[in-house]
Amino acid sequence: MSLPPKKLYIKTYGCQMNVYDTERMVDVMGHEGYEVTDAPDDADLVILNTCHIREKAAEKVYSDIGRLRVMKEKQAKKAEASGRESKKSILAVGGCVAQAEGAEIQRRAPTVDMVFGPQTYHRLPEMTNQANKIKKTGGRPRIVDTDLVVSEKFESLSKKAIAPKKTAFLTVQEGCDKFCTYCVVPYTRGGEFSRSFEDVMTDARKLNEAGVLEVTLLGQNVNAYHGMSRENVEWSLARLIRHLADVTDFKRIRYTTSHPHDMTDELIAIHGEVAQCMPYLHLPVQSGSDKIVKAMNRHHTIASYMKTIDSIRAVRPDIALSGDFIVGFPGETDADFQATMKLVKEVDYAQAYSFMYSERPGTPAAGWEHQVEEHVKSERLAELQEALNHQQRAFNDKSVGKVMSVLLERTGKQDTHLVGRSPYMQAVHVDVGDKATVESYFGQMVDMKIISAGPRSLKGEFAT
Ligand code: SF4
Repeated sequence: MSLPPKKLYIKTYGCQMNVYDTERMVDVMGHEGYEVTDAPDDADLVILNTCHIREKAAEKVYSDIGRLRVMKEKQAKKAEASGRESKKSILAVGGCVAQAEGAEIQRRAPTVDMVFGPQTYHRLPEMTNQANKIKKTGGRPRIVDTDLVVSEKFESLSKKAIAPKKTAFLTVQEGCDKFCTYCVVPYTRGGEFSRSFEDVMTDARKLNEAGVLEVTLLGQNVNAYHGMSRENVEWSLARLIRHLADVTDFKRIRYTTSHPHDMTDELIAIHGEVAQCMPYLHLPVQSGSDKIVKAMNRHHTIASYMKTIDSIRAVRPDIALSGDFIVGFPGETDADFQATMKLVKEVDYAQAYSFMYSERPGTPAAGWEHQVEEHVKSERLAELQEALNHQQRAFNDKSVGKVMSVLLERTGKQDTHLVGRSPYMQAVHVDVGDKATVESYFGQMVDMKIISAGPRSLKGEFAT
């Protein structure tokens, strides 16, 4: 008699790198017979794949751990009352909070059995087996694995199957050497590492053969990619994208997250020359003030950022631009903030992400004087977000009446709805009328006429 499959629950916090990492963890544990569940109380292995970028995100992890502890205690009591043996599920914390605060997590939350960093999840099967063995003997596992050897992880994961979907992430680069003064990534993910050209192409071919139509090349500083080939030739991101467009059937190629410092002329040019390269670019600037971007150690100026924007619009006038902003960085005056508002007006973003600065322990800016008061940060954030929301709505409104290709990648809230992405990363909803049509169009790239726009999404109908 075969044993029932074990259940795996993963909660993902933060960025697309984490979404990608979660998918790979599902692959890795799938090989060990684990099936994904969306009910943590039903799971044999619960993983919180964490993000350390913002203080609130880390605190949220601790409150989730608290909730899971209560859930486990209730389960144990119920089992005891009914004379059954209680489920010995494993609670693991992975990702960047784990990397940064490994020992601290186990001190604050002894209920956590395993702590592992973003570069070690290929060793999850060994860690889980070890934890299970300790639990069976009534012991408490206290496993911590926070090595930062990136190459070993990719080598191991490349050998595993890749889940067949129409859209996929492909990590080409990890880590960062930029050391922005507010950011923990260089400490949690380690220095910049580019995968070799051959390794990237092996994964790209697997995705292509599995029918993926849209691939997003991922990296913390993806445009700093400089993978070497076997012949010792260096491949830039631009050259890699051109090659992927030439030798695969991907209809869409995207890349994220880019740093303004690494937007080379070669990379800008491909937006005008490679049809598969989508007209969307996420290019964080963080502030519109030269004084603040210098204090942030951003390695660019406002003039150089604007020059990049102009160059990219010259080769791809319809490009949708996205950005990241931090308001209330230490020392930010009203004049600095107004410089950010001016930049936003000049760039005219299709969408953007904005946050209040929060001190991250261990980063240089955390201990600086001239921290901005919370109420000032809130007021600035509200003003900035109002402007950005207005721009996003205007960008969406301009789409109405246009016909654009949409990759229908998931079902919507109703069972006759499908949701896809426009080339400009807008979510497009369509009501196809019946479930059979949903099935036949799921995963297809179709031309849609946009019939209405909302603040965050569009509605479309099949173009005739
Ligand atoms: S570029 Fe700056 S913000 Fe981005 S990951 Fe590196 S240090 Fe962090």
